Amino acid sequence: MSLVKRILVLGGGFAGIECVRKLESYFSHDDSVHITLVSEDNFLLFTPMLPQVASGTIETRHIVIPIRTLLKKTKFYEAEVRNIDPYGKTVTLSGTSEKRGISLHYDYLVLALGSQTNFFGMDNLERLSYSMKSLNDAVVLRNRVIDMLEQADNETDPILKKSLLTFVIVGGGFAGIETAGELMDFLHDARKFYPNIEKSDIRVVVLEALPSILPGFNEKLAKFALEKLQQRGIEVKVGTKLSSFSGEEVVIEDAQPPKASAYVPSTINAIQTMTLVWTAGVTPVDIVKKSVFKTNRGGIVVNEFLQAVDFPEVFAIGDCCYLVDPLSNRPIPPTAQNAESEAKVAAKNLYSSIKNSKKTKFVYSPRGQMAIIGKRSAIASIFGIHLHGFTAWWIWRTIYLLKIPKINKRIRILLDWTADVFFDRDIARLKVMRPKTPEYKELDEVDDVW
Ligand SMILES: Cc1cc2nc3c(=O)[nH]c(=O)nc-3n(C[C@H](O)[C@H](O)[C@H](O)COP(=O)(O)OP(=O)(O)OC[C@H]3O[C@@H](n4cnc5c(N)ncnc54)[C@H](O)[C@@H]3O)c2cc1C
Repeated sequence: MSLVKRILVLGGGFAGIECVRKLESYFSHDDSVHITLVSEDNFLLFTPMLPQVASGTIETRHIVIPIRTLLKKTKFYEAEVRNIDPYGKTVTLSGTSEKRGISLHYDYLVLALGSQTNFFGMDNLERLSYSMKSLNDAVVLRNRVIDMLEQADNETDPILKKSLLTFVIVGGGFAGIETAGELMDFLHDARKFYPNIEKSDIRVVVLEALPSILPGFNEKLAKFALEKLQQRGIEVKVGTKLSSFSGEEVVIEDAQPPKASAYVPSTINAIQTMTLVWTAGVTPVDIVKKSVFKTNRGGIVVNEFLQAVDFPEVFAIGDCCYLVDPLSNRPIPPTAQNAESEAKVAAKNLYSSIKNSKKTKFVYSPRGQMAIIGKRSAIASIFGIHLHGFTAWWIWRTIYLLKIPKINKRIRILLDWTADVFFDRDIARLKVMRPKTPEYKELDEVDDVW
């Protein structure tokens, strides 16, 4: 029997990277433990700053940190995970046109594959809307907004112009509210370059099905955020859900019709818009949902030690796991903070498994949360202290800047923020172009031709 223990971590997000870094520290002098990390991108994406990339406050590359610069002894594969076989303890990675895929064997597996945008099965919406989950989403949305400004400036039909300048965001959580705030700032700052666009032509609407925005925040803070957004001209429609989007028109209706003894039909309205941003929730990635592990709401069901219930050598952490907090009886929410806390416990328990020592239970103890709601204003709850306005905004920037794991990226972001105070917004729309992929032919296909 081999004395070497192979730990395989899948996913290079907050959970995967934190887990690997902890494992490296536990096994820094132990050559009998081999750690391998697989992720489809070779960078860690710092999602809390994604809306600021969409608005151009931060340069695209500054919120991504190359994974290899964060690792000491871990072997890294940039590849897509195609199959996970916990019976054979094997994971298959996709190949490229240059090289075939490979299989990796493990003794211990950590699943940290994260989540994807949840379109709730509405294929049409997935095709027609914009989202805010990946770096690509932020770049594509920025291009779209600039394109709308360019078209609207020369549009003579007032109805079409209005619809080009109307942006609807679905979802009043972190991602939706921060995107709405950043978008409004960008539109107003960029307007000076578009002489035919008036302030009143621009419309940003947020739709939230729940009765309030930013669920999970203290009620007073959520109310402050709502008022602040409204003061800045953002229309927030709570208790309102999207019923369809054609690409040119959003149909909305009441999410919770008032309780009445008789049937009360919900009010239906329509908003003319060419741009719908869907941020109404996430769901674990497909490869996890379709796996053989026991899942609930798409996430891998784990015990208090974060082990998959059917396979004790498999750990699941971050957005792709499902764990209920025994105190509130509710699933632990998908946040970067929770992903990192789970990663620390999983790494500790991997160490315990290898060294045959006592495992640690994961205890959910959120330190707080923060959200930016636009120019120099935010809300924050930290260790039970509730703050809003400029102080909260300053704390948001300081804490998140310090959370960036590389000093060179921190400095670049700080410079971006400083430049934003003194200079105009950059309205250059960078077209994303793909190089033409070479056509590959199998040998016998060529034989057929001749
Ligand atoms: C706009 C936005 C703002 C947010 N703001 C906050 C905030 O302020 N505070 C907070 O706590 N949380 C915030 N979040 C939530 C936070 O980003 C997530 O909870 C966190 O990223 C989860 O970490 P994770 O490691 O589980 O997943 P991820 O960070 O999504 O990482 C998963 C990794 O797995 C990789 N992967 C997925 N599938 C495959 C595959 N098949 N093969 C190979 N690799 C794969 C992905 O490329 C990715 O690197 C925000 C999210 C968004 C979208």
